[in-house]
Amino acid sequence: MIERFDHFMARANAAYYAARDPFADFVTAPEISQVFGEIIGGWARIAWEMMGAPRDIMLVEAGPGSGVLMADALRVFKPASVHFIETSPRLREAQGQLVPGAVWHEALADVPARPMILIANEFLDALPVRQFIRRAAGWMERYVEAGDYLEVPVEVALPDDPEGSVREVNEAAEAFVAAAARRGALALFIDYGPEKSSAGESVQAIRDGKHANKLAEPGTADISAHVAFAALGAAARAAGADVQGPVKQNAFLTALGLFQRGDFLARKNPEKAEYLRLAAQRLTAPEAMGSLFKVMAVCPKGFAALPGFET
Ligand code: SAH
Repeated sequence: MIERFDHFMARANAAYYAARDPFADFVTAPEISQVFGEIIGGWARIAWEMMGAPRDIMLVEAGPGSGVLMADALRVFKPASVHFIETSPRLREAQGQLVPGAVWHEALADVPARPMILIANEFLDALPVRQFIRRAAGWMERYVEAGDYLEVPVEVALPDDPEGSVREVNEAAEAFVAAAARRGALALFIDYGPEKSSAGESVQAIRDGKHANKLAEPGTADISAHVAFAALGAAARAAGADVQGPVKQNAFLTALGLFQRGDFLARKNPEKAEYLRLAAQRLTAPEAMGSLFKVMAVCPKGFAALPGFET
């Protein structure tokens, strides 16, 4: 079978999330500390007030993983309804345990037409990217056949990079962000990637916390790509929305009181103090998750500065 690389990645990840426990392979911010989800809940609550506090507000999460981010957020903000966009039946089951009463959807297009706050942590990085490689004759697109790359000449509007350069285009992520923009959602995207896009390959496969072969044994490792925030911002603007940020995760979490909330919890539960201190450190240290991870909001045109994006 010959598959375009993004189709291969989509198939591999669908199989991976349907069958494996992703948290055996990698750790995400809401799994590290309850404060992460509480801060997102606080953000959603203020954002909702800024929207004029619509009674029928939906809190929607894309790719909710174990459901713990939402469970933590709901202690701070109680929306009229909770919606999950999740394709993995296995993870839906886990999410239902932590968040009773949630409603599941296959795609954003299936979420009802009501006022929406949308959150997505480490969701866009799981969506499939197309990969192009520059050869002497021009740009080629990468396909996959039997565990190897195959290159097919293609007409594509990309910069005139040096031979051997790789470019990635995340059409699925751009389409998702544009759809959120068209819906008039207030959306918060947290993911890892550079502010400016550049040439280079970022796709990686992770199994048991270690790098694995991307093309071998699809479905047994998590395949992800850096999120190109500039391209996503452009997609949101082209769809008629405004964009705030991206800002670094450490700036965002610090502005929203990560350390104060951590100190408060540590005083109440001294046995957890060391754990909370290490968790806050891991979420904000530049050499850990503080700097590579970025936070970007998409909002209706002219919307006031949202919490964490005021400067
Ligand atoms: N947000 C969680 C989980 C991140 S893992 C956390 O921070 O811990 C990626 C999540 O996105 C998983 O829940 C996975 O099943 C889901 N997912 C991946 N591709 C998807 C797709 N195309 N549509 C909907 N959900 C998807």
